[in-house]
Amino acid sequence: MNEPIKTDVLIIGAGPCGLFAVFELGLLDMKCHLIDILDKVGGQCAELYPEKPIYDIPGVPFTTAQGLVDALMTQIKPFGPTFHLQEMVETIEKIGDPLFRVKTDQGKLFEAKVVLIAAGGGSFQPKRPPIPGIEAYEEKSVFYSVRKMDAFRDKRILIVGGGDSALDWTLNLAPIASHLTLLHRRDQFRAAPDSVNKMMALVGEGKIDLVLGQVSSLQGEDGRIAKAIVKRNDGSDFHIACDALLPFFGLTMKLGPVADWGIALKDGELIPVETAAFETSVPGIFAIGDINWYPGKLKLILCGFHEASLAAQKAHHYVFPDKRLVFQYTTSSSSLQKKLGVR
Ligand SMILES: Cc1cc2nc3c(=O)[nH]c(=O)nc-3n(C[C@H](O)[C@H](O)[C@H](O)COP(=O)(O)OP(=O)(O)OC[C@H]3O[C@@H](n4cnc5c(N)ncnc54)[C@H](O)[C@@H]3O)c2cc1C
Repeated sequence: MNEPIKTDVLIIGAGPCGLFAVFELGLLDMKCHLIDILDKVGGQCAELYPEKPIYDIPGVPFTTAQGLVDALMTQIKPFGPTFHLQEMVETIEKIGDPLFRVKTDQGKLFEAKVVLIAAGGGSFQPKRPPIPGIEAYEEKSVFYSVRKMDAFRDKRILIVGGGDSALDWTLNLAPIASHLTLLHRRDQFRAAPDSVNKMMALVGEGKIDLVLGQVSSLQGEDGRIAKAIVKRNDGSDFHIACDALLPFFGLTMKLGPVADWGIALKDGELIPVETAAFETSVPGIFAIGDINWYPGKLKLILCGFHEASLAAQKAHHYVFPDKRLVFQYTTSSSSLQKKLGVR
């Protein structure tokens, strides 16, 4: 078994609230590792609405969602958090008082004195296309994300979709595939115009194929695809021989494994917390941001920021049981300013 990665605090979810928690915990000398299923930090802000303006961050009259994420990353830099992206936390086990063993779907193990759940609406999960029997091929020859590009080298790849993910992976995998087809149901794309232009250039050079239509069924054996049967928009059928199918139909949010962590839930989808420190029913496990519930809760980023600051105070008690916590302002404390690297 892998050696566990030891840390003071393990943060599940690198959305805005998880990121700001690094700052509040860092001011109190606690080191953090963060795990997120996505391939980038920023949670909903980065994944769902990066270019939308936000007007209700205190003291910031206007920013974009991605601008906020970038600013948070700058703000937490002095504390050197470690990110583990494209990993989903599957299990949390209590092994001490408090000490937790956390395992990801990639088999990575962590031991943390405190766990802070900032998992938002739960895990972003890919939307499965309505192709009969597709489950039998998943993780063998149907993939909803690309974890290692090299796994697709010299393969006949069929990418389905018309958004940024479909176009980005078309451009990235075209040079290493033995053959690549992009299949989309119409000739309009939702992806960045620059990506669409680059994709069309590859089509023009004969390096990839672009086909309009939809996959209606798959043929293959033991989870290995041999061909996809495609229905053209005029109703006619034809097949595309392929070794790997990558459908990019967007993401939905599901609570996911959070439901199995032995923590009391409200209505099966939110984690009730008390409001002095936002601790859950399990001492040492905190929940902040969109995932938690208490009377009057608002799913606003600023509320999650407040929750992070109070959770950090109690986390300090678990991480440094013998140390007294002295309340300080960043404006006047030279020790806090040293931690921030501004003195
Ligand atoms: C279109 C839109 C506009 C919005 N506008 C505003 C606004 O103007 N102002 C405002 O305050 N709020 C706004 N919100 C709400 C705001 O985005 C959320 O309140 C905020 O993102 C919550 O932050 P979070 O860190 O709690 O969770 P999230 O941003 O949801 O991040 C949670 C992260 O946890 C990860 N995760 C979940 N489960 C696991 C697991 N098991 N293992 C590993 N990782 C996991 C997810 O992948 C995700 O990245 C808006 C939301 C939307 C959708």
